[in-house]
Amino acid sequence: MARSDDCIFCKIGRGDIPSEKLFDDATAFAIRDINPKAPVHLLLIPYAHVEALADATDEQAAAAAHCFEVAPAVARQAGLAAGGYRIVVNQGPDSGQEVPHFHLHVLGGRPLGPMA
Ligand code: AMP
Ligand code: ZN
Repeated sequence: MARSDDCIFCKIGRGDIPSEKLFDDATAFAIRDINPKAPVHLLLIPYAHVEALADATDEQAAAAAHCFEVAPAVARQAGLAAGGYRIVVNQGPDSGQEVPHFHLHVLGGRPLGPMA
């Protein structure tokens, strides 16, 4: 599995940086965003160091797709099933992506309004 020694999400995945994993399976894990933009703001992160989706191998794309597959269960577990939620994926400079390791943002807990 590809990884990056300097990547903060790889470090969290490896346990080098302690975190509370709200969801965890062989492929992905979920943590709370350190700078939440909504009452519930989770990050769903593949263990594999997947950088740009455009350059992903089949295996890396499958890991990214897995995050979408488990997102509804993670959202339900976080209490978002009734109210709904927004999933955001930033890719590249114009999106404002800060961490170059693929992840889903799962946001909810209040009406989120239009996308900015
Ligand atoms: P993005 O801009 O899509 O790359 O989002 C990266 C997100 O990771 C931001 O919302 C940050 O607040 C969040 N973040 C960065 N470092 C950590 C960390 N150590 N634990 C939890 N969330 C983090
Ligand atoms: Zn990484």
